[in-house]
Amino acid sequence: MTAAAAIACRDAAPLAILRERGQREVFCGLTGIVWLHRRIQDAFFLVVGSRTCAHLLQSAAGVMIFAEPRFATAVMEQRDLAGLADTHDELERIVARLIERRPDIRLLFLVGSCPSEVIKLDLARAAARLSVRYAPQVRILAYSGSGIETTFTEGEDACLAALAAELPASEGASTRSLMVVGALADVVEDQFRRIFAELDIGPVHFLPPRRCADLPPVGSGTRLLLAQPFLNETTRVLEGRGARRLSAPYPLGADGTAAWLAAAARDFAVPAARFEAVIRPARERARRALLPHRDRLQGRRIFLFPDSQLEPPLARFLAGELGMRIVEIGTPYLNTRLLDAELPLLPAETLVSEGQDVDRQLDRCRAAAPDLVVCGLGLANPLEAEGFTTKWSIELVFTPIQGFEQAGDLAELFSRPLLRRTRLEV
Ligand code: SF4
Repeated sequence: MTAAAAIACRDAAPLAILRERGQREVFCGLTGIVWLHRRIQDAFFLVVGSRTCAHLLQSAAGVMIFAEPRFATAVMEQRDLAGLADTHDELERIVARLIERRPDIRLLFLVGSCPSEVIKLDLARAAARLSVRYAPQVRILAYSGSGIETTFTEGEDACLAALAAELPASEGASTRSLMVVGALADVVEDQFRRIFAELDIGPVHFLPPRRCADLPPVGSGTRLLLAQPFLNETTRVLEGRGARRLSAPYPLGADGTAAWLAAAARDFAVPAARFEAVIRPARERARRALLPHRDRLQGRRIFLFPDSQLEPPLARFLAGELGMRIVEIGTPYLNTRLLDAELPLLPAETLVSEGQDVDRQLDRCRAAAPDLVVCGLGLANPLEAEGFTTKWSIELVFTPIQGFEQAGDLAELFSRPLLRRTRLEV
């Protein structure tokens, strides 16, 4: 018998899915740079953009002060554009200056954005040309974080897809390996590495790696275990290179993490008893850490506005492990393939809305009067002023929330705003 992790599956009653197209309140994909630059420690992100892009990055990363920042914006608007060739030359000059000043950079991303001057540039071509010029010292790749093409976490997907295309080929189909895909905090990666080692699962690689010299190999022996649900394009590129995705819930909460690990354990034929013995202590710790939060959150009603695409797995965790009642799960995109192991775990007839028509969604939220609203910064203040208790969704991508040891912290992100509101009322 191989590993299995118990996690309750709802009956076959369908989810209610509402598709909306209207005004959206979601960050663009540039935001991903804020967590990606912390993760890949020898990478630099050069946004080819406007002053708006520079402001977004500065305010998103506002609290962080760097001696040597690892992202910058090359402002391409408000200049006298004599022609496209000039813009290319200008970009090459900026890259040359940057590489000269920063010999520590090993991987440079040119990140596209919205201004028409930038859209006219072929950044992928420019990156390929520059990569040849600066090889082997610096590898140069391009992706788009433009608000026209990407929302919030899709920036990470575009970045990792560019990286996935560059991975070395693994040697031979018999080389079985596990690739954990999606940016995780270093502390979370270390915890997972220890668990996989105890389970005798290996070799294990992480994409993105901490350093670009550690780009993992990929081939038909590669099994993909997704740590994030928004990596549609990255998964497609990796599958195109022969890798096979393991269907699993995402590693949020005690049961979610156990089920995620179990998917890998099953594929690597880890005996059930061994799996249980290895994960039991950490799973028990996680369950204990959830208890005080469960007391506070059980039966409370929550409304999730669309933001990071993490909303469906978060709702599964909140309903399944903390007893919350889900009013609506908004998500920018409902990727049913990558959520194939998550959606059956949601309470039956949960309303899932894909896309956004923000005014209509606000009307539904007001009518439902939930105890807690998870939303972006732009909606949180007005809703607080109306008397709602809110949680900023951006914290869910900036905070380490995956894995057993972080389960209590994740629950606290939801129980703290309710506690704060109670204290204010007292
Ligand atoms: S939406 Fe476009 S212009 Fe605005 S910050 Fe994002 S990439 Fe820049």
